[in-house]
Amino acid sequence: MIKGFRGTSLVDYPGRISSVIFTYGCNFRCPYCYNIDLVLPERFNLLEDIPEEAILKELERRKGFIKGVVITGGEPTLWGRRLITFIERIRFEIELPVKLDTNGSAPDLVKSLVEMDIVDFWAVDFKTSPQKYHKVKGDFTKVKETFKILKKIPEKVEIRITCYPPLITEKDLKEMLPYLKDFKFIAIQKYVPAEETLSGEKVTPYSEEFYQEISTFLKTQLPEAEIIKRY
Ligand code: SF4
Repeated sequence: MIKGFRGTSLVDYPGRISSVIFTYGCNFRCPYCYNIDLVLPERFNLLEDIPEEAILKELERRKGFIKGVVITGGEPTLWGRRLITFIERIRFEIELPVKLDTNGSAPDLVKSLVEMDIVDFWAVDFKTSPQKYHKVKGDFTKVKETFKILKKIPEKVEIRITCYPPLITEKDLKEMLPYLKDFKFIAIQKYVPAEETLSGEKVTPYSEEFYQEISTFLKTQLPEAEIIKRY
């Protein structure tokens, strides 16, 4: 299940020093994705698995210093019951809070985790407007269901929007608004072209001006939300 571990991060869990665990496999194919080693089977098969036991031991060792654990990917929810058990062990054996990153494609698993109340913070990607989800090979009906579940706990959820120009235009943002209005924390993330991406395409990023404009737009449209600027 796990192919990567970062002992200390100051940026992955809002307000907490954390360790970050990287699961492998993903059911989406975002053109700008640079986590290729965790997404493509021919790449992740070359990496060694890190046993859950070894990670738990390392978390225990770091416990005095880190204040939370981030599970990211790839797409962690692909691991189903095994992910649930692992989160339970972090929460109840190591006694550290858990943040889970997801693309929102597994509402049934999200529902179980919310009912069990074992995830302390969620980060959900909102990739593009509903009718463009096929461009990331995703099914928006699933993501929509995930939003429906998580909107009941808005204080524990951050919605992340990476501004990759072909997927996020002003028109897309307008179409995303009805879903965004249910959430409290909306993070606008800068798209930075990577050396190697899934599509291999080099897309010119938006200017600083665009980011300012969309932040203002979202602030006006979603007065209750906190717009987090990561650009
Ligand atoms: S959801 Fe997209 S960006 Fe995230 S790991 Fe999968 S392909 Fe990459």
